[in-house]
Amino acid sequence: MPKSHYPSNYVLPFLRPTWAEIDLGAFRHNFREIKRKLRKSVSLLPVVKADGYGHGMEEIARASLSCGARLLGVANIEEGIFLRKRRITAPILILGSVYPLSNFTYILRYNLSPIICSLQASQELSKIARRRKKKVKVHIKVDTGMGRIGISAENAANLVKKVIQLPGIIVEGIFTHLAAADSDYQFTMEQIGKFQSVINELKRDNINIKYRHAANSTAILRYSDAHFNLARPGISLYGLIPFEGAEREIDLKPVMQLKTKIVFIKRVKKGTSISYGRTWKANRDSIIGTLPIGYADGYNRLLSNRAEVLICGKRVPLVGRVCMDMCMVDVTSLPNVKVGEEVVLIGSQGKEKITADEIAKLTGTITYEVVCGISKRVPRIYL
Ligand SMILES: *Cc1c(COP(=O)(O)O)cnc(C)c1O
Repeated sequence: MPKSHYPSNYVLPFLRPTWAEIDLGAFRHNFREIKRKLRKSVSLLPVVKADGYGHGMEEIARASLSCGARLLGVANIEEGIFLRKRRITAPILILGSVYPLSNFTYILRYNLSPIICSLQASQELSKIARRRKKKVKVHIKVDTGMGRIGISAENAANLVKKVIQLPGIIVEGIFTHLAAADSDYQFTMEQIGKFQSVINELKRDNINIKYRHAANSTAILRYSDAHFNLARPGISLYGLIPFEGAEREIDLKPVMQLKTKIVFIKRVKKGTSISYGRTWKANRDSIIGTLPIGYADGYNRLLSNRAEVLICGKRVPLVGRVCMDMCMVDVTSLPNVKVGEEVVLIGSQGKEKITADEIAKLTGTITYEVVCGISKRVPRIYL
């Protein structure tokens, strides 16, 4: 187990040998690789929401800024306040909508940048900004087909023209979000086209907005038309491919590994059942190891009897149901293995590796959910 400072997400002493290793060197490598896919004039807004996709928001934010990120993206005001309390002074864009509108006072107090999707919201923000004699930078969110939040592409230019008149507000950015960059070429090109028309319409009226952005990780790799002058990578920064086959286009290194140690070993007779519901029974005399990690740590219960883990550089199967705080592995193929042996649940050991993608496929989800689902109970250790 690596020795390191206590991670920022953890207040308890680090006693149980279960941890997530976060390789900030790999993160910086991914940042540079992503930057190489973009023209020099395109800046990065790393998306650090959801505790940096489970990697630790403060540490990821600092690593991003040290790599030259201009702005940081978070999901809600609380995440923005968290970064401010950790003395991060860089511009922070709140990607989600603000509700209720009275929460704009926190935007002002903590010098955050909200997105704006309606005239009503911008008027309320202007009022609060004037009262505090401050200026707030906003990004206009245009809905070109995601169907989530944003002003429709038809009405976007009009909204911008009204918002730029409001005292206390600076329209620093305009952006949209792509719904199917990994699966629908035509629809994505239509979205990009709609966004471009809004920008063109504004340009005709001599309105040039500083930041124009549309690209998530997939669009950074696949749609250079979506690059504009700012890109918003999330998953790729964490070293996870945003779509099948992306590994041929960019060299990404996974940033997170999930590890534990065997805390108990026993020999069992053929026919012995293991864990809740007796879903697994030994079909030979077996050696069973117990791991101090379970679904409360974000190791999904759907992995019961399906996942494998790495011990001594070899794959061994998880047996029986994953419990809340523990799970069991069949180490009969490793007769010399002892209590204290390191176990890799996500990551590599020797020549073998288990990717977040493998875990995602076994549980019917995507890598995003696997990494941001590793719970707060698991300390993050920074390398
Ligand atoms: C989360 C998010 C991103 C990052 O997307 P990835 O697929 O992880 O690269 C970009 N933009 C917005 C608006 C987001 O909410």
